[in-house]
This record gives sequence, C-alpha cells and structure tokens, in this order.
Amino acid sequence: MRPTEFSTRLVAPGENSSQDDCWPHSAGALCSGSMPELAEVEWYRKQWNVGLGKKIVDVRLDGRNRVFRGTDPRELHRRLVDEKFLSSEARGKRMLFKFSSHNWLGIHLGMTGKIRVESGNFHPNKHDHLVLYQSERALVFTDSRQFGRVRFHHGREGPDWWDTGVPEIISAEFDQRFVDRFLDRHRQAPIKSVVLLQNGFSGIGNWMADEILWRAKVRPSKRTGKLTRHERAAIFRATKFVVRRSLETLGRNFTDPPKNWLIHQKWRREGVCPLHRTLLRHTIIGGRTTAWCPRCQK
Ligand SMILES: [Zn+2]
Repeated sequence: MRPTEFSTRLVAPGENSSQDDCWPHSAGALCSGSMPELAEVEWYRKQWNVGLGKKIVDVRLDGRNRVFRGTDPRELHRRLVDEKFLSSEARGKRMLFKFSSHNWLGIHLGMTGKIRVESGNFHPNKHDHLVLYQSERALVFTDSRQFGRVRFHHGREGPDWWDTGVPEIISAEFDQRFVDRFLDRHRQAPIKSVVLLQNGFSGIGNWMADEILWRAKVRPSKRTGKLTRHERAAIFRATKFVVRRSLETLGRNFTDPPKNWLIHQKWRREGVCPLHRTLLRHTIIGGRTTAWCPRCQK
C-alpha cells in the first residue's frame, strides 16, 4: 500500500468522510448508511435460515447488474432451480450458501448489501438483484450501491475463492503470533489502517477497529512499527473480545453491543469517552473517520 493512503488529518466531529462510516443503530444526523462488518454479516447470513432444507423453485435476477461481475448468471439460474438450500457460513465479511448437487453461492454485502426474506409472491424492486423463490418465501439479496457481489460455483469441492488462508478472528489460528507477524509486515502504516486490512483482521471494519484501539489504549495514528510488546498484546486481546461480544449481541439478534462501548458515542457530535467522559476526537486515517479518546489512547 502506498504511504499516502495512510495520511491523517484532523476533522471536526461530524464532518463525516464517507457514507460507509456509520453505525446502523444510533445513526442520526452524522450517518447516512452503514457498511456491514463481521457481526452484521453474521446476522444477515442467518436471515435465509428459515429456508434451509427447502427447494428453490425459481430464480429472478438481472444478469447485467454489476453485482454479478465475474459470474455466469445464466448458469446460476439454471443450476439452482429445483435444488435444496442446505447450509451457510460466514468468514469475515463474506458469506457462502450451499445448495444440493454441488452448487455454491457466495455473497459479499459490499457497502449497502442486505439479505432478507419476503413472501412467496414477492415482486423484486429495482435494487433486489437476486431473488431465490421457495414455495412459501423469497430469499432476497438487495444492494442499492452495487459494491456487493454475488458469485456462483458448481463443483464437488467448495469454490477456491472461499479459502483465502486468512484465519477467522474467533479461531485458534488467529493468535498473538499471527498478529505479530502481520503487524511486522506493515510497520510504516498507522495501526488503525492495519487493523482494517482484511488479509489480517478478517471482517473488521471501521467501527470495530475504533473499538479495538480504544479498548487497547492505543492511539489510532500510531505507527505500527512503534508499538510496544504490551500494546501488541492489548490489541490482540481487544480484537478477540470485541469480535466475540459483537457476535453475541449484533451477530445473534442485532441487539446493541454493551452500553459502555465506544460505538455508542462515536458518531455523536458531543461524543465522550465511556470511561471518564472526556470529549472524543475525530481524525481521518487512511480515508476513514476515526474516533478516539485523547486521554486513554497514547
Ligand atoms: Zn478515555
């Protein structure tokens, strides 16, 4: 990555840099959208569970839409009809849905993608790019800005694009050694930018990264190469904790994370540190608005 991508500058609270820097719940004036991170992705993945074990009776899609880039939508259509929806899993920000007769559907929600269920007589709207009809319901993928992606794979083995070799944060493979090695590869970059890299911190996005660094008491603009061993350990522990608790709340039923988390203050104009009520600062790092506490994070 080029060094310029890690440039930092100060911004006033509320001077939001981009639409993806948002919190879906306490949205308000500062936010206009939200980009799903691993806990939201996990929640969306489960929305189609109601159709598990049931046949797909029809498929509706607009194959010219760019969410199907790199995929043959006609093959998707032809192969999925009459097959059963068997299972699904999520990795980082990606989802994989398995169907009978060795058919696989990958979905990345991008910035505005959503997964939902409608009734069996549902008529797709402009942004409903893929609808899998079952006899009693419709499994819908919607994406207004079309940064999301739908991929199809047919084969006895799962798709090769699914196995990236990057460990899930909740797995045992994501350990201090893995994190240390990853941080060593990005010594010049500010730590905030590094925690957003998907080939190390799979599924972490803007709000989780801020939560992790606040909890670890590390200033987001700090050069990764300057982190002490103690700070690296704190980042590792905070990453595991934030991911686990987010999956238990947001990922389970879309309830808010604990009240004493930074996220509840992050987008407020007068947001304060949950620990001692100091006003939060907002800085743009690597193009992303970053909230942090000047007292806690050195
Ligand atoms: Zn603080």
